[in-house]
Amino acid sequence: MSRDWNFSAGPAALPEAVLKRAQAELLDWNGSGASVMELSHRGKRFMELAAATERRLRELLGMPDNYKVLFLQGGATQHFAQIPMNLAPEGGSADYIVTGVFSRKAVSEAAYHVDARIAATSEANDFLSLPPREQWTLNPAASYVHYTPNETIRGLEFHDIPDVGDVPLVADMSSNILGAPLDVSRFGLIYAGAQKNIGPSGLVVMIVREDLLARPPRPIAKILRYAEQAANDSMLNTPNTWGWYLAGLTFDWLAAEGGLAVMGERNARKSALLYGVIDSSNGFYRNDVERAARSRMNVSFVLHDSALDALFLTESEAAGFIGLKGHKAVGGMRASLYNAVPEAAVEALVQFMRDFAAKHG
Ligand code: PMP
Repeated sequence: MSRDWNFSAGPAALPEAVLKRAQAELLDWNGSGASVMELSHRGKRFMELAAATERRLRELLGMPDNYKVLFLQGGATQHFAQIPMNLAPEGGSADYIVTGVFSRKAVSEAAYHVDARIAATSEANDFLSLPPREQWTLNPAASYVHYTPNETIRGLEFHDIPDVGDVPLVADMSSNILGAPLDVSRFGLIYAGAQKNIGPSGLVVMIVREDLLARPPRPIAKILRYAEQAANDSMLNTPNTWGWYLAGLTFDWLAAEGGLAVMGERNARKSALLYGVIDSSNGFYRNDVERAARSRMNVSFVLHDSALDALFLTESEAAGFIGLKGHKAVGGMRASLYNAVPEAAVEALVQFMRDFAAKHG
């Protein structure tokens, strides 16, 4: 068996230790005589797993007690629509900061359910920079401010949490959750599709401040209401038990590795190494994102001659690298450096990139 170096944007690499543990436990999980996928979510064993998984996440993030954790489905995209249904009254207004493809999608889905205002955007700059905070035109009466701390496609990241006053801050952290320590208390709601830094697709982890759950509900179906999910331990219907289990294994792995401070340091080293090779390639490779907003999770780059793209991809695949093709919306290359991507993978990649540049430069 050989596993390649996996730089996929998502679904993405999982920690090898997590996969091995899942493999070892697959046929007989926790002495149950069955796999975790084959057991009732309401059984004692699974309920214990669910509680332990939540506890572990709370510990990792140092989460204050006035936040609920939900394990939901539908992908981050479904919650683009569900968040306004839950947080804004009918006829209400919400502010959106649009810094890439996903925040643009978030605002367009939200617009079916709320007056979704774009309070700032860097679209005119092709999403290569962040709109300076002093240029945001926030509405103090907005139900919430939504932003995307890490835009996965360009690799554009806020390195500080923006101050939006008393309006609750809502963050789509699909591609950077758990990548570094986080002050949860600055947020009203955090949500993330699991398939990058947590586990498999089909699971959404949401962290929501209790006062937001107490906002008067709109006439929407129970299954769409976060407060109902919170009151029912995310089990209004059958949850993604397999995803929940793998998320728990990942949280255990993160704790065993030393927690989010260690992850943050590792991710800073990994991304610095890769940006360093790009910046010192005499223009062979280029990353056009504003320096201060470069992502530690998704590093995009173009080759000086796009005629070399196909060759770069074939040679990198042959050398054992997965997932380096950039998103179709922007082309070029992208290496995603989530927690499960070891430093050795990035070291191998930069060696490959140096060799490729020497050969074709
Ligand atoms: N937001 C961000 C930041 C993402 O990277 C993605 C997926 N690439 C999404 C939302 C959409 O997630 P999903 O496919 O889980 O709906």
